[in-house]
Amino acid sequence: MEKLIERIKSDGTVSGEDILKVDSFLNHQIDVGLLDDMGKEFYNYFKGKNIDKILTIEASGIAVACFAGKYFDVPVVFAKKTESKNLDLETYDADVYSFTKGKTYKVKVSKKYLSAGENVLIIDDFLANGKAAEGLISIVEKAGAKAAGIGIVIEKAFQLGGEKLVNSGYDLFSLAVIEKFENQQPVFR
Ligand code: 5GP
Repeated sequence: MEKLIERIKSDGTVSGEDILKVDSFLNHQIDVGLLDDMGKEFYNYFKGKNIDKILTIEASGIAVACFAGKYFDVPVVFAKKTESKNLDLETYDADVYSFTKGKTYKVKVSKKYLSAGENVLIIDDFLANGKAAEGLISIVEKAGAKAAGIGIVIEKAFQLGGEKLVNSGYDLFSLAVIEKFENQQPVFR
């Protein structure tokens, strides 16, 4: 997605060896017009897949998943990372290791919001080692639903999560794919 790549080039900053910061339009402040275009792109790619529901993970996946949900006209569910007394007791759970935080946390989705037989589109902001996506896939599969596709805003191909998902047979579509960082700048595929 050319518009996204241009925005990453102008606003993105590289932190350490392997983190891209895009707080000005995706992870802190949100560019609503750009995210709406992202939702449309996901719709155009996955529209033939009879998507019943979109699943993402809090917090940064929610905004982009909502714009996709608008185009598919389906509900958006987000996996919760935080323990909450409000969350239903009956949940599908998965453990996710976060390399940005260096710890494993549990993500949960109420059994009310995923049903057997549904075609679920998984959406997230970044794909690195694929742990968040794998956690969401396992939740979908525990519900007896199908992970019909995985839509990612920014994939860092050098971290191999994408390769693993494609080799496992999942339909992965990323709006921008970064091959590497060179001189603190992303190099796009
Ligand atoms: P994975 O589970 O694929 O290793 O990492 C994906 C998750 O980690 C995403 O949900 C995202 O929140 C976070 N993440 C991974 N890499 C980056 C990055 O370069 N920048 C930002 N902002 N978040 C990242």
